Amino acid sequence: MRYTILTLFPGLIRPWLSESLLEKALARGLLEVRIKDLRDFAKDRHRTVDDTPYGGGPGMVIKPEVAVEAIEWALPADEVILLSPAGEVFTQETARALAQKSHLVLLAGRYEGFDARVERFVTRVLSIGDYVLMGGEAAALVVLEATARLVPGVIGDERSHQEDSFSRGLLDFPQYTRPPLFRGLPVPEVLLSGDHKEIERFRRREALRKTLLLRPELLAQARLSREEVAFLAELDRDGYT
Ligand code: SAM
Repeated sequence: MRYTILTLFPGLIRPWLSESLLEKALARGLLEVRIKDLRDFAKDRHRTVDDTPYGGGPGMVIKPEVAVEAIEWALPADEVILLSPAGEVFTQETARALAQKSHLVLLAGRYEGFDARVERFVTRVLSIGDYVLMGGEAAALVVLEATARLVPGVIGDERSHQEDSFSRGLLDFPQYTRPPLFRGLPVPEVLLSGDHKEIERFRRREALRKTLLLRPELLAQARLSREEVAFLAELDRDGYT
């Protein structure tokens, strides 16, 4: 999988790629990331990339020719993604779809964002949530992280993303590790039992309980067995506990 990140601050991106699983995946050639400075597409000797907004108002707007020439430099690509708080909200489902592609271009803004005409040159506008960041670099890295971990071989055990939150339409079940008793808090007995069938059932039920409590709207899309529907009805009756 290849990524091209177009940014005014390449130095913010590099350190993120230099440790942990991303660094290993890059070293093994499973991922390839190009980082390109948008200033390289400025036209004057001051490397100006922004200008004041038509119609007045505070802040600066990134010039369309800078962004569009950067996109053209990065092509060919399967998707050109503009990061913006005004985009479609990025979800695990989108991450799964994007992880099937072979080259994603991620365009990170700053200041008041890009001239609106830039949107005509991208395939998607994505937001990572309903809040405003100072720039699109963290958002681009969120998209990179969420998609790269779905690329075969990038994380150690493929089962781990099949069990993740959202993957089955539910939040993940709670996880525990040693010691069995921590500050008076025990690990649920069933997890120590070695009974894999019971453990599976417990985990599925705990995922349902957590989802009902924290993100009930997700349940409308989840694929549930008859037993799970009955369990949810039971939880609802008992006030989730
Ligand atoms: N005035 C813009 C608005 O309200 O839509 C905000 C611009 S923001 C200060 C600068 C850049 O940060 C944006 O161009 C975008 O690339 C990035 N950004 C900020 N919040 C974001 C979010 N929630 N998701 C994706 N990108 C975001």
